[in-house]
Amino acid sequence: MQKFTITIHGGAGTILKQDMTPELEQLYLTGLQEAQDAGFKILEMGGNALDAVVAAVCSLENNILFNAGKGSVFTKKGEHEMDASVMEGKNLLAGAVAGVKNVRNPIELALAVMKYSNHVFLSGQGAIDFAMQQKIALMPDDYFFSQFRFEQWKAVRDSDTYMLDHNNLETEALMKNKKFGTVGATACDKFGNLAAATSTGGMTNKQYNRIGDTPVIGSGTYANNNTCAISCTGHGEMFIRAVAAYDVSCLMEYKDLSLQEAMNIVVNEKLKKIDGEGGMIGVDAVGNYAMIFNSEGMYRGVKNSDGINEVAIYR
Ligand code: ASP
Repeated sequence: MQKFTITIHGGAGTILKQDMTPELEQLYLTGLQEAQDAGFKILEMGGNALDAVVAAVCSLENNILFNAGKGSVFTKKGEHEMDASVMEGKNLLAGAVAGVKNVRNPIELALAVMKYSNHVFLSGQGAIDFAMQQKIALMPDDYFFSQFRFEQWKAVRDSDTYMLDHNNLETEALMKNKKFGTVGATACDKFGNLAAATSTGGMTNKQYNRIGDTPVIGSGTYANNNTCAISCTGHGEMFIRAVAAYDVSCLMEYKDLSLQEAMNIVVNEKLKKIDGEGGMIGVDAVGNYAMIFNSEGMYRGVKNSDGINEVAIYR
């Protein structure tokens, strides 16, 4: 039996201690710990990495604090359009959905696409039709409502500004005070299998059916048993252009870098060069982990069979 590990994130950005109340901070940490525990329990009982990452992401999707599932941000039209993807490292199977509405747990739908369709990537109404066929739980619009994100949206809905989650209501301050609320998990199980899952409501006031990196395999999510499993959060456009998650895997595969070294190059050099703010979490096939971000903070956590059990927010 080898070392097993789960890492999770709940978004990155300008997350500053002075902007946080102790109560809210505690709620975030508790939410992260619960998600991490849900995934770790599966690994501990001999379950596989895929089930562990899906369980952790479901827990974060069900938590209104994070911008995924319940609590997703509002689009320009005042709706919630969610994106999610999942990938399994042993066989390179993947499933993804983009622009889905009313799906309680978009990550479950991405998993169903992977397992029960002949496809990898479904979008919009077609993805919702597939969800109904698969008896994936749908919820009414008000399930996704959160007052906080409604206020965020109200402040920008008459403009063309689209903003990153949790932003300050001052539009001026918005782009300075960027926070990304996407959620994700990566895991390495007892058998050396890797998996990654990522889910998001995207960006507040997004329009034109904008899709970020989260459901794009290779950009927001990637897993390969030969290298690593990666889940990203940040300004999606740049993560797509950098093919960020797959680039970490490539640096490991072709340059023989460690997970930490490869991730550091992608986050702190390649993404930075194109103003790609955000971060990523990952594990390799022997259970090592890395969590690297170029923003002020990243909601994150790690738990492994060596007894490490940490959740953190700031740098
Ligand atoms: N990467 C996500 C997107 O661009 C946003 C985030 O990480 O919060 O849709």
